[in-house]
Amino acid sequence: MSEVQQPQAFQAEVRQLLDIVVHSLYTDREIFIRELVSNASDAMEKLQHLQATEKSVYQADKEFKVEITTDEEAKTLTIQDFGIGMTRDELVENLGTIAHSGTKAFLEAAKEQGNDPSALIGRFGVGFYSVFMAAESVKVFTHSWREDAESLVWESDGVSGYTIEEATDAERGCKLVIQLKDEHKEFATEDRVKDVLKRYSNFVQFPIFVNGTRVNEVEALWLKNKSDITDEQYTEFYKFAGHAFDEPRYRMHFSADAPLAMNALLFVPDDNMERMGFGQTEPAVSLYCRRVLIDEKPEGILPEWLRFLKGVIDSADLPLNISRESMQDSALVKKIGDVVTKRFLKFLNKEAEKDSAKYKEFYERFNRFIKEGLITDYTHREALMKLLRAESSMNDAGELTSLADYVTRMKDGQEEIYYQLGSSRDVIESGPYVEGFKARGVEVLYFFEPIDEYVFNQLSEFDGKKFVAVNSASAKVDEMDTTSEDERQALSDDDMKAVTDWLKETLGDKVGEVRSGKRLVSSPAAAMTSADQISPQMRQMFKTMGQDAPDGGKVELELNPRHELIKELAKARETKPELAKLLGEQLFDQSLLSAGLLEDQRGLVERGLKIMEAALRS
Ligand code: ADP
Repeated sequence: MSEVQQPQAFQAEVRQLLDIVVHSLYTDREIFIRELVSNASDAMEKLQHLQATEKSVYQADKEFKVEITTDEEAKTLTIQDFGIGMTRDELVENLGTIAHSGTKAFLEAAKEQGNDPSALIGRFGVGFYSVFMAAESVKVFTHSWREDAESLVWESDGVSGYTIEEATDAERGCKLVIQLKDEHKEFATEDRVKDVLKRYSNFVQFPIFVNGTRVNEVEALWLKNKSDITDEQYTEFYKFAGHAFDEPRYRMHFSADAPLAMNALLFVPDDNMERMGFGQTEPAVSLYCRRVLIDEKPEGILPEWLRFLKGVIDSADLPLNISRESMQDSALVKKIGDVVTKRFLKFLNKEAEKDSAKYKEFYERFNRFIKEGLITDYTHREALMKLLRAESSMNDAGELTSLADYVTRMKDGQEEIYYQLGSSRDVIESGPYVEGFKARGVEVLYFFEPIDEYVFNQLSEFDGKKFVAVNSASAKVDEMDTTSEDERQALSDDDMKAVTDWLKETLGDKVGEVRSGKRLVSSPAAAMTSADQISPQMRQMFKTMGQDAPDGGKVELELNPRHELIKELAKARETKPELAKLLGEQLFDQSLLSAGLLEDQRGLVERGLKIMEAALRS
């Protein structure tokens, strides 16, 4: 027992790993505590399982807990668990060699990464060996759960090798006595250690004590059964985990076994902080592996447009230990993100069906994120479209409708979904475009936000129906019957042809085509954009950015053969050609103006004055 053992050498890979851990890892040093507590918790969980099947377990009545003590003077940190412990062979196997293929892969990746492997290690930890980021030497006192096992102490300075000797009366489990390096003696202070535990190990299922005081009070709610959790508990958890003071607007709690084992508890906060003028929200869905925090604000798990969510994703399939790639590139992590995103979109859709008023409140605050998703996230576009809402020509101001509802209200023979962009309902409805649709009982959706322009640049159809802007020349509304008694005294086709030909000649290159149309009701004329032409809103956007908008096709002018002004114009063309020319030009500019397409307003004013003069003279 007293015989001094020759140190045994670490496996070459262990030495390599230790070298990286000790020499290159400067950030996140504190995670070694997380790693050790997680090992302790694992060891007790394993024993729990064993106890169900094994009859005899050494010191079977030991309580499951992690006991941590700090000694500032001696610069030691002691972490003790009452788990399965290790036999001599297990000590050699587990702490002297690297069994995981993941670790080997890590070493290769670290070599490629060159000077900064901390980016790789920091996120996943390096298991037991991370202790040497702070330790001068470590003793592991252990007794396996097997009755006939020895009391042993494993000791190493983390450089070349370790010794294993017999110990006296080691308790079942493991007790790690960590002699800290002078520069890392902070980890022998109670407050520092408590701090780290609160951060990473708050939800560990076994009680953790630091110098006799319990530190982890909070349950890992996401692993419990929904039916065992009250609303108050959920809200309390949200406030705690999300560092929040508000009440969550929605919560989604689910678990899945396939394709991945995971539990997720997600919250939508009361309001969108970006909307309230705060900067871009940081991702706040933390990633856990079996109750132990891996990353509090992981990027790249959920799509960026879901950054307003708070909560927890826990997957037992994630390696707490180092992974093959860094987290962002991990296929596993991507998969987790995808599963959660799909579930969340489905959840929102259901909530919207269940309580549309509640969804409306959510939508008013968070629609930007949905639209951002529609623009940037092709994978989830279909599901996102179901969440889109808009005001409509058929509803009162302020009421919202979905695309699916629009489709159910489409008229016989209607094949397209009509929408109009504009700064407000009034602006849209006072323009010339919507009236023809209204007259035919065809619904038009209204969108008011600048971002909607980008959305419709991306979307082409919903449910097989194309999106068409009402100011687009291709809108097929002319072909539909009007409901109003409309054909009253319209100009004849011949007369209209004469007027449109004349006006086209008068306006020359400024206009693509002048034609008679049935779309207009109370307006004499309207400018229509062609499909390849950029919209007025987009044009404005280019202008604010100080750029020239690309020149698309030309505007078309549609004249209303039923309007008095057009009828008078047809006459004036022959009787007062000078004035008719002025009027024609004025009509065109005014149409451009209400379409938001008029760039130079001087002509409009000068001509207006001349027309007034003429009116007074006659
Ligand atoms: P990992 O925990 O990812 O397997 P570690 O390097 O942290 O990697 O630990 C290696 C192995 O050592 C563990 O798999 C486990 O078998 C054993 N081990 C570590 N800590 C303990 C402990 N407190 N009790 C029992 N076994 C342990």
